[in-house]
Amino acid sequence: MRSEAIVVGGGIAGAMTALALARRNIKTTLVDRWEPGHSRASSTDYNRVIRSIHGRDEFYTRWARESRERWLEMQAETGQRLYYECGALVLATAGHCDWEDATAETFQKLGVPFHRFSPNEIAVRFPQFDPHDISYGLYEPEAGMIMAHRAVITTIDLFKKAGGTVIRGRVETDRTERPMLEGKPLEADVIVITTGAWMGDMFPRTVKPISSVVGVNVLYTSTPDGSTAFDQENMPCWIDHGQGSFGLPSTEGSGVKAAVVIPDTIDLDQDERLIRRQTLNRTRSYIKKRLPGLVGEKVVDSKFNQIVLTPDTHFIVDRHPEHENVLLAGGCSGHLFKHGPVFGDFVAGVGVKDFGTADRFRIAGRKKLSPKESPSGR
Ligand SMILES: Cc1cc2nc3c(=O)[nH]c(=O)nc-3n(C[C@H](O)[C@H](O)[C@H](O)COP(=O)(O)OP(=O)(O)OC[C@H]3O[C@@H](n4cnc5c(N)ncnc54)[C@H](O)[C@@H]3O)c2cc1C
Repeated sequence: MRSEAIVVGGGIAGAMTALALARRNIKTTLVDRWEPGHSRASSTDYNRVIRSIHGRDEFYTRWARESRERWLEMQAETGQRLYYECGALVLATAGHCDWEDATAETFQKLGVPFHRFSPNEIAVRFPQFDPHDISYGLYEPEAGMIMAHRAVITTIDLFKKAGGTVIRGRVETDRTERPMLEGKPLEADVIVITTGAWMGDMFPRTVKPISSVVGVNVLYTSTPDGSTAFDQENMPCWIDHGQGSFGLPSTEGSGVKAAVVIPDTIDLDQDERLIRRQTLNRTRSYIKKRLPGLVGEKVVDSKFNQIVLTPDTHFIVDRHPEHENVLLAGGCSGHLFKHGPVFGDFVAGVGVKDFGTADRFRIAGRKKLSPKESPSGR
């Protein structure tokens, strides 16, 4: 197989990179083990939050703002509903507000619209939440949710319309970590590896040391019979760091997605993608505390997927140390989906050597950041 560019992995990182390459008139082939949009990938599920809330990190704040514009353009271009601008609310817990305070400063500096709500204001504006232990709420109105599965499929369609080719196959690596398909080395001017959580096992020497894979259980709870209070028209996405939780309102009938993040182990190829039973009780306790209007409502859907955490929660966009034409791109750290359009463009630009990567995306020299310094607040 000879293409000018090969992209391995058709999640949001690979799909967006492939589209950006094809739109530069580069003959591009995308390879995935399964059909893009499949349920083992991280880029699955109905929706993902898009917000510019990144603490003091201006780089990702700018990327998220630009991505929002790009998602809106893609929505207008394709006529597909990709984005709901329902806003995002960060609940700052008393005594642990550093990250939220830093976000407010960054927003002020960069001109990102936001409001700071007292607990009483939250109770009036968003009565779905019980804010009794909250210090304040940071609300970003120009945030919302991307319809994740639909966004991947739409990106793949655009890629094909731009002349790209999608094939099914499992790329493996030899002892030098050279990518191989069906026993033969992949040949292309640039080979972009966007295999998400699988990248560590494919590149045990280069990527594995900076990747830890975590399973995340997500449950959808029914909205109350006859009520629209928990629909995206009336409720924002939210982040509740103090409770280790985040969530999204009901959209297109999904139910309310309330995720209590209990880092779980996951075998990427062997595990059934069924949620762990104990998360049901944790989610119910969380709902009782924060979303009392949902008490007694039933879980109607669930997902079990993985994220990859790098030590500093920065993405990876770097060349393989021994194979100059192999570019490694991923390291999602739980926040890559929303940045997809800008990430794909950036990776394509690095791939064709229009510009170099950013220092933060290099593989070498990673160290753990404190939650205060971290762009994800983790
Ligand atoms: C529960 C949960 C909630 C999240 N919430 C948010 C959010 O609100 N906002 C946000 O921005 N992000 C969020 N994320 C993170 C986001 O979903 C990920 O960062 C993003 O989807 C990662 O995309 P990816 O393309 O790197 O990986 P993936 O989507 O996993 O894609 C990797 C692809 O590579 C393929 N592949 C693997 N190995 C091979 C191989 N050897 N050969 C060929 N193909 C291969 C796989 O089949 C897969 O299709 C969340 C993630 C989870 C799990």
